[in-house]
Amino acid sequence: MTIFEKIVAGEIPCKKVLENDSFLAFYDINPKAPVHILAIPKICVKDFHLASPTLLGELCAFTQEVAKHVGLDKSGYRVITNIGDDGGQEVPHLHFHILGGGKLAFPTLA
Ligand code: 5GP
Repeated sequence: MTIFEKIVAGEIPCKKVLENDSFLAFYDINPKAPVHILAIPKICVKDFHLASPTLLGELCAFTQEVAKHVGLDKSGYRVITNIGDDGGQEVPHLHFHILGGGKLAFPTLA
Protein backbone atom coordinates (compact mmCIF):
# COMPACT_ATOMS: atom_id res chain seq x y z
CA MET A 1 0.00 0.00 0.00
CA THR A 2 1.44 3.41 -0.93
CA ILE A 3 1.49 6.28 1.56
CA PHE A 4 -1.13 8.02 -0.60
CA GLU A 5 -3.42 4.96 -0.48
CA LYS A 6 -3.12 5.16 3.32
CA ILE A 7 -4.11 8.83 3.16
CA VAL A 8 -7.12 7.95 0.96
CA ALA A 9 -8.08 5.21 3.44
CA GLY A 10 -7.86 7.69 6.35
CA GLU A 11 -5.03 5.73 7.99
CA ILE A 12 -2.69 8.73 7.68
CA PRO A 13 -4.12 12.22 8.25
CA CYS A 14 -3.87 14.95 5.64
CA LYS A 15 -4.87 18.59 5.31
CA LYS A 16 -7.62 18.14 2.74
CA VAL A 17 -8.32 20.76 0.06
CA LEU A 18 -10.95 19.09 -2.12
CA GLU A 19 -12.35 15.61 -2.72
CA ASN A 20 -14.81 13.78 -4.94
CA ASP A 21 -15.56 10.10 -5.52
CA SER A 22 -12.43 9.52 -7.59
CA PHE A 23 -9.87 12.16 -6.59
CA LEU A 24 -8.39 13.80 -3.49
CA ALA A 25 -6.34 16.99 -3.08
CA PHE A 26 -4.36 17.79 0.07
CA TYR A 27 -1.46 20.02 1.12
CA ASP A 28 2.05 18.61 0.68
CA ILE A 29 3.70 17.84 4.02
CA ASN A 30 7.00 19.38 2.81
CA PRO A 31 5.94 22.36 0.67
CA LYS A 32 8.24 23.61 -2.09
CA ALA A 33 6.20 26.78 -2.71
CA PRO A 34 3.95 29.02 -0.59
CA VAL A 35 1.02 26.92 -1.85
CA HIS A 36 1.81 23.26 -2.58
CA ILE A 37 -1.07 20.88 -3.09
CA LEU A 38 -1.06 17.28 -4.31
CA ALA A 39 -3.91 16.04 -6.49
CA ILE A 40 -4.22 12.25 -6.67
CA PRO A 41 -6.57 9.61 -8.02
CA LYS A 42 -7.97 7.46 -5.20
CA ILE A 43 -7.07 4.33 -7.14
CA CYS A 44 -3.35 3.68 -7.32
CA VAL A 45 -1.74 3.96 -10.74
CA LYS A 46 2.04 4.09 -10.41
CA ASP A 47 2.79 7.14 -12.52
CA PHE A 48 1.84 9.42 -15.41
CA HIS A 49 3.41 7.10 -17.97
CA LEU A 50 1.12 4.20 -16.99
CA ALA A 51 -2.09 6.25 -16.64
CA SER A 52 -4.87 6.06 -19.23
CA PRO A 53 -5.84 9.17 -21.23
CA THR A 54 -9.26 9.05 -19.53
CA LEU A 55 -7.78 9.07 -16.03
CA LEU A 56 -5.34 11.85 -16.95
CA GLY A 57 -8.14 13.93 -18.45
CA GLU A 58 -10.22 13.56 -15.29
CA LEU A 59 -7.21 14.36 -13.08
CA CYS A 60 -6.56 17.50 -15.18
CA ALA A 61 -10.18 18.62 -14.74
CA PHE A 62 -9.95 17.97 -10.98
CA THR A 63 -6.66 19.90 -10.85
CA GLN A 64 -8.34 22.89 -12.51
CA GLU A 65 -11.09 22.70 -9.90
CA VAL A 66 -8.56 22.60 -7.06
CA ALA A 67 -6.65 25.60 -8.43
CA LYS A 68 -9.90 27.54 -8.70
CA HIS A 69 -10.97 26.48 -5.22
CA VAL A 70 -7.85 28.04 -3.64
CA GLY A 71 -7.74 31.04 -6.01
CA LEU A 72 -4.61 30.05 -7.92
CA ASP A 73 -6.48 30.38 -11.21
CA LYS A 74 -6.25 34.16 -10.75
CA SER A 75 -2.57 34.47 -9.78
CA GLY A 76 -1.16 31.60 -11.85
CA TYR A 77 0.33 28.30 -10.83
CA ARG A 78 2.37 25.33 -12.01
CA VAL A 79 1.41 21.66 -12.39
CA ILE A 80 4.20 19.08 -12.19
CA THR A 81 4.21 15.31 -12.19
CA ASN A 82 7.48 13.55 -11.44
CA ILE A 83 8.06 10.25 -13.23
CA GLY A 84 10.60 7.60 -12.18
CA ASP A 85 14.17 8.02 -10.90
CA ASP A 86 15.37 10.87 -13.12
CA GLY A 87 12.05 12.63 -12.65
CA GLY A 88 12.61 12.56 -8.89
CA GLN A 89 9.46 10.57 -8.08
CA GLU A 90 9.38 9.41 -4.46
CA VAL A 91 5.83 8.12 -4.10
CA PRO A 92 4.79 5.46 -6.67
CA HIS A 93 1.19 6.69 -6.89
CA LEU A 94 0.28 9.12 -9.68
CA HIS A 95 0.02 12.69 -8.39
CA PHE A 96 0.09 16.22 -9.71
CA HIS A 97 1.93 18.85 -7.70
CA ILE A 98 0.02 22.16 -7.81
CA LEU A 99 2.44 24.94 -6.94
CA GLY A 100 1.79 28.65 -6.55
CA GLY A 101 1.43 31.54 -4.18
CA GLY A 102 4.45 33.43 -5.57
CA LYS A 103 6.78 33.68 -8.58
CA LEU A 104 8.27 30.26 -9.23
CA ALA A 105 11.78 29.49 -10.47
CA PHE A 106 12.03 26.97 -13.29
CA PRO A 107 14.36 24.06 -12.36
CA THR A 108 16.25 21.86 -14.80
CA LEU A 109 19.04 19.55 -13.62
CA ALA A 110 19.67 18.84 -9.93
P1 5GP B 1 7.17 12.95 -5.62
O1 5GP B 1 8.62 13.19 -5.25
O2 5GP B 1 6.83 11.50 -5.58
O3 5GP B 1 6.79 13.61 -6.92
O4 5GP B 1 6.32 13.73 -4.54
C1 5GP B 1 5.87 13.14 -3.37
C2 5GP B 1 5.42 14.27 -2.48
O5 5GP B 1 4.66 13.72 -1.44
C3 5GP B 1 6.57 15.07 -1.83
O6 5GP B 1 6.46 16.44 -2.19
C4 5GP B 1 6.36 14.84 -0.34
O7 5GP B 1 6.63 15.99 0.45
C5 5GP B 1 4.90 14.45 -0.27
N1 5GP B 1 4.57 13.56 0.85
C6 5GP B 1 5.21 12.42 1.20
N2 5GP B 1 4.61 11.84 2.24
C7 5GP B 1 3.56 12.63 2.58
C8 5GP B 1 2.55 12.54 3.59
O8 5GP B 1 2.50 11.62 4.41
N3 5GP B 1 1.63 13.54 3.62
C9 5GP B 1 1.65 14.58 2.73
N4 5GP B 1 0.70 15.51 2.87
N5 5GP B 1 2.58 14.68 1.76
C10 5GP B 1 3.53 13.72 1.69
